[in-house]
Formats: sequence, structure tokens, C-alpha cells
Amino acid sequence: MAVDYKTDSNPTKFDVEADQNRALHYEEKFLWDHQQTDHSGVDLPAVDGSINKTGITARAATGLPNLSEPQILRHFVRLSTLNYSIDHGFFPLGSCTMKHNPRLNEKMARLPGFAHIHPLQPEQTVQGALGVMYELQDWLAQLTGLPGVALSPAAGAHGEYAGIMVIRAKLRDAGMHHKDTLLIPDSAHGTNPATAAMCGFKVKTISTKETGRLTLEAFKDALGDGENIAGMMVTNPNTCGLFERDIVEISKLLHAAGGYFYCDGANFNALVGRIKPADFGVDVMHINLHKTFSTPHGGGGPGSGPICCTEELAPYLPIPLVGKSDDGFYKLLRKDDCPKTLGRLRGFNGQFGMHVRALSYMLSHGNDGLRQVSGDAVLAANYILSQLKDDYHVPFEGRCMHEALFSEKWLKDHGVTTLDVAKALIEFGMHPMTVYFPLVVSGAMLVEPTETETKESIDRFIAVMKHIAELAKNGEGDIFHSYPISAPRKRLDEVLAARNPILNG
Ligand SMILES: *Cc1c(COP(=O)(O)O)cnc(C)c1O
Repeated sequence: MAVDYKTDSNPTKFDVEADQNRALHYEEKFLWDHQQTDHSGVDLPAVDGSINKTGITARAATGLPNLSEPQILRHFVRLSTLNYSIDHGFFPLGSCTMKHNPRLNEKMARLPGFAHIHPLQPEQTVQGALGVMYELQDWLAQLTGLPGVALSPAAGAHGEYAGIMVIRAKLRDAGMHHKDTLLIPDSAHGTNPATAAMCGFKVKTISTKETGRLTLEAFKDALGDGENIAGMMVTNPNTCGLFERDIVEISKLLHAAGGYFYCDGANFNALVGRIKPADFGVDVMHINLHKTFSTPHGGGGPGSGPICCTEELAPYLPIPLVGKSDDGFYKLLRKDDCPKTLGRLRGFNGQFGMHVRALSYMLSHGNDGLRQVSGDAVLAANYILSQLKDDYHVPFEGRCMHEALFSEKWLKDHGVTTLDVAKALIEFGMHPMTVYFPLVVSGAMLVEPTETETKESIDRFIAVMKHIAELAKNGEGDIFHSYPISAPRKRLDEVLAARNPILNG
């Protein structure tokens, strides 16, 4: 029962109108609204009020609410029930943010032999763990066709940084200091230009607005004589969910001009087991283990962004790497073993728990299973595209890869925007898709079902999306501006909330 401690003079009186905890759904107050500062959840000895060395009375009143253990527990559990999660239902944000992670991998990561070791243990006592890392390096090398692998980067963006630093180290080693510019398409993830800038490169943008893809013409224009071009950063498939068809030709031109091809490999679940990025000219790429190869993330969980590169670039990889001697002993390779390394990018050896999860994912799928992962990811997205293409505007023609892209173009005629669709999805029990990204499409709606969703949940999503389109076309546009109406928090004024956050009332 919600009791208003501020005003209720009779706390045992039940106010039917004011009470919001219907059907065992609790409306939780802020901790600050529990006006209980006079009692405590713990028994501490009374203080004598003496002044301590800081000049403050020992244990002075803070004004913070004092609650008992069950009150605190219930507060956070009630708040947690307001969360929507991948374990509740469909999450069309895709592997980039949320996809189902097989529980087997969690079980493996929790095995005491993996979970209870320490990175400072002598190498001969952690041979199994180093073996996991060595084997993971090998799987990544096989899947990408790129033999140099460093597991230590802590996330995708960190992997990008490592990869571009590798290219920079190579160029400096070769005396190519004048190569100071990276080519990046305008559909790139924001981390790409940020990485380029952090590594001291200039960014030259290639427009993809017309077709959603890199065209040979636009690339040649941007490349010019290639004199100052250090390389390019390209995501393939790109953030419009499209495969870059001219990529082989483009990478040949880039290489001929002495540039390196950095591939943002975050979308590897669309390719894995089918094509090795080395075969379309990639020199170095990062892999988001937490996206393609499982591990819960998106809620602040750990990331892991190993990088893979060609033999030419491998000497510059960040340490430590895991090597294996002829007698089968695994060993961490450090500065002495890798004289040209760009150095360390973080403490210890990387997110080891994620190395275990990723290898567990790979071994449980096998080569054929990983091939099916990409097949299912692409099939599911194309199923959605084909079912919704008459209800929503599709900005780029043809089949997609792992993501289906729509725009608000037709809906806008009925006064309905992408934001309205996202809010209506919440009303009808669906988490929204990625909205307003990629930036090259106005009012973008990017749907990634991933390989793990069942046909039933995808069908329900399609049915809800069709229903929303129909409501809009039937002139019910007005109601859209108040969606969601059944959620615990209704339509928020997001601008006001961002500019003037009220965090304690
Ligand atoms: C997620 C993502 C990144 C960044 O990865 P983080 O692990 O979030 O740092 C980079 N590029 C693309 C295309 C991504 O989807």
C-alpha cells in the first residue's frame, strides 16, 4: 500500500482514489519521498556527539531517507519491474543492442576454473584459460581470413581505436607521415569519425545519400590521387543494412593508392561463416564479441572488441597476445616478443569472461552453425522487409542484409512521425526499433530481428506494425501524439526532460 508520509495524518486509512498499486503493479516513489530520516535499517551504537578531526560532529544527520532492508529491497525490485528486457520479449534493436544470448555461454563463464582465476597468477597455473584465448584467436583468424588477432580491446570503439593505431604505427614505420586522412562514408557509426579524430587523422566524408551504398564514382572522387589517404573506415554490411557491392573494386583502388581498409565489423552476424572479410580486401577490423558472439550487453555490461589484421600489420598489434610454443605451452606475448607493438591499451589481458562466452558460442554452433546464424539473421530481416514494404516507405531498393530500413515518408502525410510509431509500439507491447539512425535517411526506422527470434514473435511485430500503419492511414493521427497511453509513464516531453531534469520529485 502506498502511504504518503508527507500529508497523510492517518497512515492506516486506505485511500482508494489515490492508491496506484493496482493488480499488484506497484507505483514506486523516489527514495527521497520516503520521509523517514529518524530511524535506521541498521543498529549502530549511539554516538556521543563529539567533534572529529574534520571538525564535523561524528555521524551528523545527512537528511537522507533511512529505510529498513526490506524497504530498500522492495524499492529496487519494484523499479526493476518497470524495465523491459530481452528476456521479456522482442527487441528489434538487434544484435547491436540486444539479442538472446544462449545460457550455455553463461554457464561456461561461471565455471570456477574460469571465474576464480586471477590475471597475476603464474602462466603455468592458467594454461587452460590461455588455451581458451589462443583458440578464440584462431577462430577469429579463420572466420575473418586475417591471421593477426589481439583480444585485449575492451569494446567495439576501443577496437576501432586499436585498429587505426595499428595502421598509424605501420604508416609511421614506413615513413608515410603525409598520409593523414581517412575516408569515411556518411552512413558510418559515429564511433568511426570519432576514432579517426582521436588517432590524429583528418576525416573526409563520402556521401551515400543516393543509394545508401558507397559508389565507385563517389569513392574515386574522395580518393583523388590518394597521396594523403591513410585508409578508409567502412562498415560492411553498412548501417543501412546493405552490402557494399563495389567493395572489392573499391578496396583495390584504395590499396593501389597505398591506403589501408579498416572494416567496422560490428555487423559481422550478417556475414559470419559465409564470407571472410579478408576476401573483400579488409586489412584490419574489430569484432564486437558482445554483439555477434553473444554476451548480454546494452545495460552497461562488459564489451569486448578484438581486432584482426593482415600479416603485414600484425607486428604492430597491441600486447598482450597469446602464443603457443612447440611443446604446447601457452604464453602471453609481451613487449620483448613483439618489438614493434603499439603497446598496451588496457590492464591485464582483456575481458576474459567474454572470451569464454564467445568461444563457447563458436564451439556450440560449429562452423555450419555459424553459417546458419548469418543465414537466419538475413532471412529474418528480409521477411520483415517483404511483409512491411507496402505499409512503410522503403528508402533503398532491393534485399537487405541483417537489418530492414524504413522511413516515415508516407506516414508524415498523415501527421505521424517515426517518434510516434516508436511510442505506439510501446503502447502495443513492443520495444521500439532503432529510430532516426542512420542519419542519411530522414525519420529512419531500422529493424534488426537477429537470428534468434522465433517466427511467432516476428509475426507479432509485423502485425503490430501493420496495425499502426493502418491507424495512421485511417486518419487516426491525433491519438499517436499521446501514445503510449497505458504505460506507467505516458508520453514525456523529452526536450524538457533533457533540459530540465527533475531527479528528486
Ligand atoms: C556497436 C557499434 C560500434 C561500437 O561498439 P561498442 O562496443 O558499442 O563500442 C561501432 N560500429 C558499429 C557499426 C556498431 O554497431
